[in-house]
Amino acid sequence: MADDQNPVLFLQAVDRRYPQGDTALEILKGAEFGAWLGQSVALVAPSGTGKSTLLHIAGLLEHPDGGEVYVDGVATSKLPDVERTRIRRTEMGFVYQAHHLLPEFTALENVVMPQMIRGLSRKEAQVRAGELLSYLGLKNRMTHRPAELSGGEQQRVAIARAMANAPRILLADEPTGNLDPHTANHVFETLTQLVRASGLAAIIATHNAELAGRMDRRVTIQDGMVVEMT
Ligand code: ADP
Repeated sequence: MADDQNPVLFLQAVDRRYPQGDTALEILKGAEFGAWLGQSVALVAPSGTGKSTLLHIAGLLEHPDGGEVYVDGVATSKLPDVERTRIRRTEMGFVYQAHHLLPEFTALENVVMPQMIRGLSRKEAQVRAGELLSYLGLKNRMTHRPAELSGGEQQRVAIARAMANAPRILLADEPTGNLDPHTANHVFETLTQLVRASGLAAIIATHNAELAGRMDRRVTIQDGMVVEMT
């Protein structure tokens, strides 16, 4: 089980390569990385170094070519797909650069949906969605559709949706990459507050060194390895 000593997520000796002509493009080469509950980690590395690859592998969306991904101490590589999907749905939340909200549904419904897929009643899901959106400063935007929201508001709804099933691991890939600096700052602030309040482990890929500086820990990818930054 995850506790102060044991990471909730652990990547052990992870390799990932993509075929490139006769050779292979080696993106991750024995990468090791642990994430602990209550801790936010910024993943800061130049474009093309493997941040998305690392997040996909951590999020059980992709299999590594070698190594293992442990979630709460459980090795996931040989689990059946249905079990990997269950872990992903119950333990993980994802936020991407584009919000990927469903355009025909309101902010509230977008946050209700993943909870109902998981088996909660509409009423229970609505209560939690309302609380989350209010916490994120969107109390007066719940009935708006994505097109009726600003970029920063859309991204805050996407964060609420990622948090809807109370995940213990939040994986975010450039969540403020499409926003202007002021809005990015605000969204990031809300995101980090939420991480602290909920005690989950967050791994956030970002190009923004200033935003990364506010997180508990910073790592980068060098020569296919995850390296701590000081
Ligand atoms: P980052 O998120 O740091 O920009 P990525 O993880 O998206 O980096 O990609 C790392 C490298 O792997 C890039 O050079 C990219 O072109 C390559 N890559 C990613 N996915 C694939 C794929 N499915 N097939 C081939 N090459 C890929």
